[in-house]
Amino acid sequence: MSDRQKLYEGKAKIIYPTDDPEVLLAYYKDDATAFNAQKRGTIKGKGEINCTLSAHLFRLLESKGIPTHYIDTPAPDQMRVKRVQIVPVEVIVRNIAAGSLCKQTGIPTGTVLEPTLVEFCYKNDELGDPLLTRDRLLLMKLATPEQLEAIETFSRQIDAILTEFFGECGITLVDFKLEFGITTDGQLVLADEISPDTCRLWDQSETDPNRRVMDKDRFRHDLGNVENAYEQVLARVVARLG
Ligand code: UDP
Repeated sequence: MSDRQKLYEGKAKIIYPTDDPEVLLAYYKDDATAFNAQKRGTIKGKGEINCTLSAHLFRLLESKGIPTHYIDTPAPDQMRVKRVQIVPVEVIVRNIAAGSLCKQTGIPTGTVLEPTLVEFCYKNDELGDPLLTRDRLLLMKLATPEQLEAIETFSRQIDAILTEFFGECGITLVDFKLEFGITTDGQLVLADEISPDTCRLWDQSETDPNRRVMDKDRFRHDLGNVENAYEQVLARVVARLG
């Protein structure tokens, strides 16, 4: 896989074309970024962990009726996916207050959010992925009203499935980010990845606010043991689904 063949390189993945124009190969990197790429580093083994974890979670979601871009994993750090046009909206689903929500609203970290908050950000690094209103999103034609409704419905269903599943693993799903895409034949599907890079995951057996963190916040805030945390999430998921 040479540089020449790359279709696209993002912060955590490289996308390669395949012989089939409807199929792309996503290569998951160990590179980690935070704070809109102002902080950069490497999390050893992350590519394989996030790819394997995402594959398990995409299969779980598919089994519950959620359409995804997932096809299969030819290698532990490689995923074959359906070619999609990404909807340039990051969907943030929040069960418990953390991160930017607390900074922007003053809601204390750890507050249970009822009902679950579903928010939309504009996927645009130059602008810093700003929070969108529904009206702005529609005004900018980032999605049609029908697509937006389907995205919200799927996001709430995904939250219910993943909250229950992670709960069985002794992990609280605090919040997470989703991206959706449209396949060549017009189907809306879940895309990107679901991993400790894109979810906040708290170990239910820990009460200490630093010790309980099993996700990229360990890297963002230099909490140490980043690799161990990612490995632990994968081990618990594989123990249930593997
Ligand atoms: N998130 C993500 N990519 C982004 C922004 C957020 O995967 O570009 C995830 C993040 O890991 C967390 C959730 O979305 O699980 C909510 O993040 P938040 O808006 O609180 O932003 P942060 O505090 O991470 O800047």
